[in-house]
Amino acid sequence: MNLVERVAEAKHLTGQTPEHIIGWALETFGDGLTIASSFGVEDVMLIDIAARLTPHPDVFFLDTDLLFHETYQTAKAMEARYAIRLRRIRPELSLDQQAQQMGEQLWAHDPDACCNLRKVQPLNQALTGYQAWVTGVRREQSPTRAHAEAVEWDAKHNLVKINPLVMLSTDDVWDYVKTHGIPYNPLHDMGFPSIGCMPCTRAIKPGEDPRAGRWSGFDKQECGLHL
Ligand code: SF4
Repeated sequence: MNLVERVAEAKHLTGQTPEHIIGWALETFGDGLTIASSFGVEDVMLIDIAARLTPHPDVFFLDTDLLFHETYQTAKAMEARYAIRLRRIRPELSLDQQAQQMGEQLWAHDPDACCNLRKVQPLNQALTGYQAWVTGVRREQSPTRAHAEAVEWDAKHNLVKINPLVMLSTDDVWDYVKTHGIPYNPLHDMGFPSIGCMPCTRAIKPGEDPRAGRWSGFDKQECGLHL
C-alpha cells in the first residue's frame, strides 16, 4: 500500500481519540514518523501522549533564533521530563546574514519572506527522509484549519500529515495538560494563546480572536507551515 492509499484508508480516524490516532501513526510509520513542536499547549500534549506510547518519540522544532526565552525553557523542560532529545532545526542564514542579504528586520517589512527563510525551508529539511509528520493543528484554531482531517495527504511535502487533536477544543487540550501536570509555556498565562517568534507575537486583549496576536498589523494568518 502506498502513502496516498494509507491516507484514504485512515479517513475514519477523524473523531477518534488522540491516543488512538498517535498509536495508529506509530504502528503504521515507525521510524518514518516525526512530531513537529513549537511548544504551544497542543504540542506538549502531543509529546506527552507519544512518550506514553513509545520510549523515544522523534520530535523536532524549528529554531528561528527569534523564539521567546520562555519557549526555549519549555523545550528544555520537555527534554528533561520525557528524557528525549529534540531535533533542533536551524535556518540556513543566521540573523546577521539575513539582515545583510535581505535587509534589517525582515519580519517587519516582508514577513512572508522571513517565514520562508526561517520556518518553511527548515521544515522541508526537518521532514526529509520521513513518511509522515504529526502536528497540533485543530479545526477550531482558525478558518484556514476548519476542514483539517486527522490524517491527510500533504502534497507540498509528499508525505502524510497527522493531526491527532483536530477535533479537540481549547478546553479539551488544557484539561489534558493540567490533569497530567505537563510543563507548558508560561506565556499562555500572560495572554498569549498562540506563540510564535518574538517580533511577530503579542498578547491579545479580552475578546480578541486567539490568533489576533500573530503578525498583528499584517494580513497574514499562517507562517506557511500548514498551507
Ligand atoms: S514569525 Fe516573524 S520572525 Fe518568525 S520567521 Fe515568521 S516573519 Fe520571521
